Formats: sequence, C-alpha cells, structure tokens
Amino acid sequence: MSDKLQIDQLSHTFKGESDIEVLDNLSLRIADGEFVTLLGPSGSGKSTIFNLVGGLIDADSGDIFIDGKRANGTLGNISYLPQQDSLLPWRTIEDNVVLVQEITGTVDREAARRLLERAGLGGYESAYPDTLSGGMRQRVAFIRSLLSPQNLMLLDEPFGALDELTRLDMQDWLLKMWEADRRSVLFITHSIEEALYMSDRILILSNKPARIIKEIEVPYDRPRNHDITLDEEFTRLRREIYLLLREGNQDD
Ligand code: ADP
Ligand code: MG
Repeated sequence: MSDKLQIDQLSHTFKGESDIEVLDNLSLRIADGEFVTLLGPSGSGKSTIFNLVGGLIDADSGDIFIDGKRANGTLGNISYLPQQDSLLPWRTIEDNVVLVQEITGTVDREAARRLLERAGLGGYESAYPDTLSGGMRQRVAFIRSLLSPQNLMLLDEPFGALDELTRLDMQDWLLKMWEADRRSVLFITHSIEEALYMSDRILILSNKPARIIKEIEVPYDRPRNHDITLDEEFTRLRREIYLLLREGNQDD
C-alpha cells in the first residue's frame, strides 16, 4: 500500500530582491492513519511545506505524492485547518460546517449535526461565529475539515491563538475526535510538549532551508492523557528535542 503522503527531495526558493531558500531537498512520508508533527522554529518553512502539499504553490523541484498520485501544484487533495479559524461570520455554525461539502457537491446536514453534537457544540447549529469563544470556533473549523472528503488533514498551529488552558483542552478534544476516525494528519506546532503529546512521530526541522534534523517515534499508547507529560521519559524526550532545536539554529 502506498503512503498517504510522500514528499521526495522537495526544494523551493522564494524569488525576490533577495532570494529566500526555504526548502532544500526535503523528503518525508506519512503512513495512512498516522499523526505526524513538524516541529521547528518560526520561519523555518513549515507553512510553506503545507502550501506546497496543498498545491497553492509549485515547488522548484521534487515530487509530492498523495495516495501514490503525483500532486505537485494540484488543489483539492487535502483538508486544511489554519491557525486562525476561517469561519464566515455571516453564516451560521451549521452553514459554516457544510461549506466545503457545498463546494464539492454533497451536503449531509445530518452528519454535520451529529459531529457538532459529538464535538460538544449541540445547540449552536444556528448561532453565528462571533458569539462563540476562540476554542469553540476552532472546533467548528475542525469539524468542517472532518466533513470534507479529503482524508489527509494539514493542521497549521491550530491552537496557536488560544490561551494555555483552552489549548490543553483542545489537544484532548482533537485527539478524541481524531481517534474516532484516524485520518492521516500532518500537524505543525512550535510547542515541544504539544508535539510529544499529540503525535505518533515528530520530525524536527532546522532553520531554513528546512532539513529534518531528527525523527522521533513517540512511545506512548493511545488514548493518552496529560499525566504522561509528568513522567521521566517525557522529560527526557522534551530535553532531547530542546537541545536538537537549539543546535539546529546555532548558525542563525
Ligand atoms: P513557518 O511556517 O515555519 O514559520 P514559513 O513557511 O511561513 O515559515 O516561511 C518560511 C520563510 O519563507 C520565511 O522567511 C518567510 O518570510 C518566507 N516566505 C513565506 N512565504 C513567502 C512568500 N509567499 N514570498 C516570499 N517569502 C515567503
Ligand atoms: Mg507558519
């Protein structure tokens, strides 16, 4: 069986007054149903990787395969959750959730309502986004991604704008939702704890041009709970990653 996502030797430079070399021969793979996190300093090229996989920009060289098909420069293969939720303020919660389905042609309001219920948002179907908290809005945006037919999800620092407690809640919430249907996930964060808590595997990136400095298999079973963040192994891994990130950025 082919990998869900395979990136081979991807390179990209933004051309301008001074060229910015963001990726230099980056390769990675995500298996079906795997939760993989890109962890790296800001400006290292994480969002650029997402834009390349999502087909919004075309790489200078290298290949992207999704389900074994070459996907360079091709839109419509992924569902994407950005840092700031992208809900439309003039649409109700339910209408926001079915938005992607409207575009792709099959609206299933039953499924939308079931998922909203499961996400703790029952009763908010006809509310408008500006009446919800930041955490609730991110849940709605996430459910919209779950309802889209593409089953490779790219989550770009989805909790970056939330306060710490809401963030911890949202991590648990997202894992619970994810465990129920095991999409393949590529997740971006700059939080070491968040990466360790959420992922099957962590890819640690250097400063740009981004290379993978190290790959870490996270040793915890699922479902997880925040107690693991207190154990010795977790502390050891956190320290190892911290030192790697520091090392990877020394020449900056
Ligand atoms: P990250 O998501 O890891 O913080 P980005 O992928 O957003 O990093 O950006 C990597 C580098 O590429 C940064 O130096 C950024 O300024 C530059 N960059 C990103 N997008 C563009 C663009 N469209 N044009 C020019 N430079 C860009
Ligand atoms: Mg980014």
